[in-house]
Amino acid sequence: MTTTNDVTARVRALDKKFNWHPFTPMEAWCAPEFEPLVIVRGQGPYLFDSEGNRYLDGNSSIWVNIHGHGHPRLNAAIAGQLERIAHSSFLGFTHPLAGELAARLCGLFSNGTGEKLTRVFFGDNGSTAIEVALKISAQFWMQNGQPQRTRFVSFTEAYHGDTMGAASLGGNALFHERFRVHHFPVTHVRSVAELNELPQSEIAAVVVEPLIQGVAGMRPWPAGMLTELRAWTAACGIHLILDEVMTGFGRTGKMFACQHENVVPDFLCLAKGLTGGYLPMSATLMPERIFEGFLGEPERAVYYGHSYTANPLGCAAALASLDVFEEEKTLAALQPKIAILQDELATLARGNPGIKATKQCGFIAGIDVSSGAGAKVCLAARKYGLLTRPIRDTVVLMLPLCVTGAQIREAIAAIASAASEA
Ligand SMILES: *Cc1c(COP(=O)(O)O)cnc(C)c1O
Repeated sequence: MTTTNDVTARVRALDKKFNWHPFTPMEAWCAPEFEPLVIVRGQGPYLFDSEGNRYLDGNSSIWVNIHGHGHPRLNAAIAGQLERIAHSSFLGFTHPLAGELAARLCGLFSNGTGEKLTRVFFGDNGSTAIEVALKISAQFWMQNGQPQRTRFVSFTEAYHGDTMGAASLGGNALFHERFRVHHFPVTHVRSVAELNELPQSEIAAVVVEPLIQGVAGMRPWPAGMLTELRAWTAACGIHLILDEVMTGFGRTGKMFACQHENVVPDFLCLAKGLTGGYLPMSATLMPERIFEGFLGEPERAVYYGHSYTANPLGCAAALASLDVFEEEKTLAALQPKIAILQDELATLARGNPGIKATKQCGFIAGIDVSSGAGAKVCLAARKYGLLTRPIRDTVVLMLPLCVTGAQIREAIAAIASAASEA
């Protein structure tokens, strides 16, 4: 008879022998005493391991899951599309869902007073959403009368992905510093004020994570920063690229973070939550004015793309996720949950010497614990039914939007217990 223990042991053995995990010192991972959790199932906000233990998915499976796991609406949409076709090429052909999804995405963004976003370029993940914006911005200036605009600007501590181009924008020393010699030149600034010291006529675009920097340790920007940045870039005729890979699809309490300040960017980069967190896909949204800069002679076109661009399964999942937002009134239902999270974080900070500070942006929270304790707190939290990962000393709490108030309290209680123990 094969027991669950045997199955777990076999999965771990194969993993340690053949896999190479991202962002992971593999010697410690492969050590005999390390026993990685084997996740075998998900239901709503819960994950189940191979031994039958249940955990709240405290970081939405690395910031992607929106409506919970195994949602019947998303499952059915993917299965239905699978019956028709799993993938067809978007290079030279089209398919029924891509235009529908592009229209829905643009429609979501057209309720403000500003300019509309009207064109969508699909890619595979957050990093490629950024690559698309960088390449289109750079080429736009080359062929539209301002070839001197070659410089990109991003913020210190920024994170925009790991492909070489997106990583050039990154400000995280551990991840990016060793590759500096291979990166394209990017100027990093700390604030909007510092932008004034740069040669404005040479800048192609400024890239920012709106409202809150994620990988930097869940660091919210001061209120009004985005408005200020939009005003500055518009006045100088510089592109504004918003990286909403983490903040998109309701995380901040509105569909997109930039809607809190009624800002419309030149490039809006979406990925993680686009498919509800079910399949890898990205979308880069732009206004018609950018698109028009690529019309005319064939050499003015964008010669860039990926094999799985506009993958039909991904489109089906993304459309179903947007349907769920409407049918379940996800954003309206989220507002009281954001208030509960706020109360719970305040109580947590007051009652626990192991908690140094808490940070919140909508439904995203970062909980600063004692120096060096981040990983220990997350490990201890497992015993109390919560799975998440720290960023150094910051415990990330980014629950799927479908959680109940009781589940939010459960998650905070797990962190409280774990912090007093660690
Ligand atoms: C995760 C993330 C990315 C990169 O997305 P991948 O899908 O991992 O390539 C880019 N920007 C932000 C803000 C992110 O959180």
